[in-house]
Amino acid sequence: MKRRRGLVLGSLLLTVALAGCGTGNAGLPDVRVGAGAPLPVGAQDPAPSPSAPPAGGQDCDPRASLRPPAALPAANRMPAGGTLAAIQARGKLIAGVDQNSYRFGFRDPLTGELTGFDIDIAKQVAKAIFGDENRIQFKTVTSATRIDAVRNGEVDLVVETMTMNCERWQQVSFSSEYFTAGQRVLVLRGSGITGIADLAGKKVCAASGSTSIRNIASDPARPVPVAVAGWTDCLVMLQQNQVEAVSTDDSILAGLAAQDPNTEVVGAAFTDEPYGIAIKKENADLVRFVNGVLERVRADGTWTSLHRTWLAALNTDTPAPPAARYQD
Ligand code: GLU
Repeated sequence: MKRRRGLVLGSLLLTVALAGCGTGNAGLPDVRVGAGAPLPVGAQDPAPSPSAPPAGGQDCDPRASLRPPAALPAANRMPAGGTLAAIQARGKLIAGVDQNSYRFGFRDPLTGELTGFDIDIAKQVAKAIFGDENRIQFKTVTSATRIDAVRNGEVDLVVETMTMNCERWQQVSFSSEYFTAGQRVLVLRGSGITGIADLAGKKVCAASGSTSIRNIASDPARPVPVAVAGWTDCLVMLQQNQVEAVSTDDSILAGLAAQDPNTEVVGAAFTDEPYGIAIKKENADLVRFVNGVLERVRADGTWTSLHRTWLAALNTDTPAPPAARYQD
């Protein structure tokens, strides 16, 4: 709980500082930051138009992964000659993760350690390979860099609030689904905005390379997409009045709203975002192994306890883990 308090205190200080710059405080000058404030590094306003999805790119069941083996090999007894034996010989699993998504992948401000639901899911894979969840090296990646990081072997896998979709299946493989999200909208409290339909012609922030930025660009309300590297950059742009809203997965928005109580999540979810662990296409043995780990994590209560630890604020009742689907 100490950890949470540190983060909340930090964000409250930020909130107080920003409230001082706001309009509604009697006696304080109106010094709202806006067009003149610097943009976060790498921000693109407006975002470049996303390239058209590749032909045939929607023709799959995005949730269907490879069936796991009937029984997983014991820790430190990975089958010879495959991806898992190479990871075992290296002595650590290399996982690509986010450091900017509160509750999924973020730095604990007290310890500096990467923590969160996605981080703990990655640790479960390390535990299954080595019998030790700490045999893992994290590399931070962004929504825009993670597919290349998987494809060029910089990381063994990516656990980063990543939506499984047919277009991405053409570039990487995914594990079975381990979390379900949907895209919504985050605004400043009192803005009067009630959802994406109210954002016609207004600037809406999301991370480059995310499904969210595409969904904003293709929304019938025609909002103006603004792209940044990480999700907290979007929160800063919202606080500085440089965008009208942030739009991405409800799971990520809830984390941003928790960091700034002057913001709120509005409107219903308007997309379906099943999360999978991304793995190099050639490494089907690792995909099947990870799916075996996820089967175990679902069945033995680990998923539920991780959900309670990190994501209890998202639902009043802890949901059941998403059921696995296999293409065989
Ligand atoms: N789930 C969405 C995606 O995979 C948004 C979150 C993210 O980029 O990590 O694009």
